Amino acid sequence: MPIATREQYLAMLDGASAGGYALAAINVTSSETLNGAMRGFAEAGADGIVQVTTGAARFASGAAVDDMALGARALAEYAHVLAEHYPVAIALHTDHAPPEAFDDFVRPLVEESARRVGAGREPLFQSHMFDGSTLPLDENLRTAAALERELAPLGLVLEVEAGVVGGEEDGVVGPHAGRDELYTTPADLLLVADALGTGEHGRYLLAATVGNVHGVYAPGQVRLRPEILAAGQHALSTARPGSRFQYVFHGSSGTTEADLRAAIRHGVVKVNVDTDAQYAFTRAVADHVLTNYDGVLRVDGAVGRKAAYDPRAWGRRAETALAGRVAEAAHQFGSAARSVLS
Ligand SMILES: [Zn+2]
Repeated sequence: MPIATREQYLAMLDGASAGGYALAAINVTSSETLNGAMRGFAEAGADGIVQVTTGAARFASGAAVDDMALGARALAEYAHVLAEHYPVAIALHTDHAPPEAFDDFVRPLVEESARRVGAGREPLFQSHMFDGSTLPLDENLRTAAALERELAPLGLVLEVEAGVVGGEEDGVVGPHAGRDELYTTPADLLLVADALGTGEHGRYLLAATVGNVHGVYAPGQVRLRPEILAAGQHALSTARPGSRFQYVFHGSSGTTEADLRAAIRHGVVKVNVDTDAQYAFTRAVADHVLTNYDGVLRVDGAVGRKAAYDPRAWGRRAETALAGRVAEAAHQFGSAARSVLS
């Protein structure tokens, strides 16, 4: 199927919300990782999201071009061409854009989507994150509210963050695991609903932090409190009967099944998977190189083996391993075999 239409994307999010499951959102950096992610969704019969960070997009553009908006656009175009051949719905999203990167990273992509929508086509990306977690909350929400109203006429979904995700991703470093500022409060979550509404101004996803951190920590380092998400839902449905937040879970790698299941039960509809996907991909490459070192290398005057150092030899294994990890995530999050297309 082509990349999810705006309508299908909302059906994916609302289906997850109503069905008590979550969509896997896989961070990709290249055509290989993108292929692996899409293949994983297909293997699980799951709809899913592929997303790029600023650094991934810059990497995808190639060092000589070194332009994050162009890299993101190139990967998205690639996805649009190939997604047609997959039997599940796949949506495209841009991950963390801090205020100082938003104009360079997201604006050109929104402009491209506006051109497409103006011509009667679907947008390039279906959603974009504005990460204002470095700003005071009121300024974060003021900016987010303006963006929400700007994206709504194009049918684009905005992801916002209340609180701050710890750990390190793509050079962006948050507080260490266990710190107080990693826990959002229900009062803060209600402020999000005050600023962004509950659908009347546009659609948004809310990255509410419950102690989650990017990256993988040693067991016991990360103390998650998914009950904060439940408290937020309770506060919202009291203030605005019938309303429910659609939460995003950042930093899922290394999280226990029980914590993940609780978070999804409390309304997480999108779970980001970056670190574990990176590891699955690279683990397969390392295995190939270490077990075929005298083929991938020209050792002691020998010529190596072309079949071993051909990038497809290790690239295919890496794609397969990543696809497997993505399918596993879809099963864990409950989105397997629940495509909106079936
Ligand atoms: Zn994140």
